[in-house]
Amino acid sequence: MRSQEAEPRRVAAPEPAQTRPRRALRGGNGRVRRYRLLGALGIVLSFVAGLVAGPLLGIDPSASGKADAATTVAAPAVVAVATPTATSSMVPAVTPAATPAPTPAPKPCKGVKDTRSATAKKTPFTVCGIELVSKNHRVSSAYAPKLVTVAVRANGIPEVLLQPRAGTALKKMFAAAARAGHTLVVRSSYRSYATQAHWYATMNKRLTAPAGASEHQTGLAVDLAGVSNGVLVRGSTLARSPIGAWLVKNAPTYGFILRYPSDQAKITGIVYEPWHFRYVGVDAAKGVVSTRTKTLEEYLKES
Ligand SMILES: [Zn+2]
Repeated sequence: MRSQEAEPRRVAAPEPAQTRPRRALRGGNGRVRRYRLLGALGIVLSFVAGLVAGPLLGIDPSASGKADAATTVAAPAVVAVATPTATSSMVPAVTPAATPAPTPAPKPCKGVKDTRSATAKKTPFTVCGIELVSKNHRVSSAYAPKLVTVAVRANGIPEVLLQPRAGTALKKMFAAAARAGHTLVVRSSYRSYATQAHWYATMNKRLTAPAGASEHQTGLAVDLAGVSNGVLVRGSTLARSPIGAWLVKNAPTYGFILRYPSDQAKITGIVYEPWHFRYVGVDAAKGVVSTRTKTLEEYLKES
């Protein structure tokens, strides 16, 4: 009880700075002495630990010369005591800087929903930059792509009309076929909504898409035939001909695909058409032929 009363008194009545520690030592205050002994022991232990830990920490005593004592004493203090504190205090400070700036997730382009409204159908449903026009993804009569006249051989039509990129690729493909000894002709290219409506009304509905559901309205599709010894090779005959085989093998090199392969009507909605080729670009064409069904729908994860 007495010591408890004595301490507040010393605090309440300040004495000269020198007096307090001397009196504390002389007066045999056990608690103070214990602290001092523990403090001294701590310094000695720190020094010894420094001698041991220095080499482990890569502190080269010979390199720091006279500063060794200070360095080695300070080192274990930092390692043994400060490390946990430093780690915990560094985490919040370092984490935001170390976290990479959030990069926006790439927008999925395959397997996306066709969310166009009835009035928005003047533009085709486009997946990964590829226009998909079918019975499930129709366009309106207002859809009118930019077209160019393509200077390639035609049969049964006054001129070949396609979107510019498809026209350029088609000319290259025709030239390559010629180098391989084959003559290609175009039997149908761009067809307007009105033309398709007329065809659908007058032709076999199993073989003709309704207006708004035909790829020919995109200006990216062609119906092809070959000419062999002055004879037109078309329709199902094309599929069994060397030029038909050349087309299936080489069209993807120029960005075209056989759009409606045999036995895939459940996926494409159209029966086998060995004459109908569609421009999708070289990368997509190679992607399509690498799918199991070789269909644009499987490649785009669409139906
Ligand atoms: Zn066609």
